[in-house]
Amino acid sequence: MSNILQDRHVVVTGAARGIGAEIARTLAAQGARIGLVGRDAAALQKTRDALPGSGHAVAAADVADADSVRAAFEALRAACGPVAVLVNNAGQAESAPFMKTSVDLWQRMLAVNLTGSFLCAQAALPDMLEAGWGRIVNIASTAGQKGYAYVAAYSAAKHGVIGLTRSLALEVARKGITVNAVCPGYTDTDILRNSVANVVGKTGRSESEALAEFASVNPQRRIVQPAEVADAVLWLCGPGAASVTGQSVSVSGGEVM
Ligand code: NAP
Repeated sequence: MSNILQDRHVVVTGAARGIGAEIARTLAAQGARIGLVGRDAAALQKTRDALPGSGHAVAAADVADADSVRAAFEALRAACGPVAVLVNNAGQAESAPFMKTSVDLWQRMLAVNLTGSFLCAQAALPDMLEAGWGRIVNIASTAGQKGYAYVAAYSAAKHGVIGLTRSLALEVARKGITVNAVCPGYTDTDILRNSVANVVGKTGRSESEALAEFASVNPQRRIVQPAEVADAVLWLCGPGAASVTGQSVSVSGGEVM
């Protein structure tokens, strides 16, 4: 791939750890300047300091809060220049049986996973329109492509991310900007480790039994690695994917097809 990301400003939300940190590393290795967003400034700085390349910056923000997002993008723009690529990765996955899903949990899941992607896209898009080139990649989930029991709020939010992806892709289709979603299956990060701990606590199963249960929904019978998700993001940013827009790429060993 030609180095299309060289010196471009790439904003990655939820970049301190997990999939977001891996995306930041992968795109930084292509010469991008990464703007790292998350709520924990110290954790962001630690991740930034370990990135390849130079010129990276951090901005602490809650993606669900409009003022916080606006301030973060202003600070990142001042440090790294206009935003060329946005990776909406920040997310949370709380589970509960449907009748025990409080309005508060419901709103929290929509706020961070869906409204956060909306707010960051609105903050980044003017730079892309001005440049006549841009990439928005939303990290949704297989839970945006199919249902799972006990995560109605998370799944509704991720389905919403896919709707946002499709509609915005059409709106900017003739502006040199693509908008796509990457949909990981169960991936080896804190979110999965918390879910495993939850199952162990609630059912008394061992950790390896609980992990095997999560892996069993993947036809390849394994847990996805963050680097596999990051590679899909990199491809969507590259010249070979210029015609790919409004799509939901499932990185899930064939769980969704
Ligand atoms: P993770 O390790 O828990 O990381 C989540 C990241 O999001 C953290 O860096 C966290 O940083 C940030 N974040 C959470 N709430 C935020 C907020 N309100 N504002 C700003 N940043 C926030 O989880 P992950 O597995 O890497 O998840 C990354 C994305 O992949 C999420 O959108 C998730 O839904 C999606 N996904 C994960 C899996 C999986 O099995 N792991 C599967 C499908 C989809 P702070 O807490 O420091 O703010």
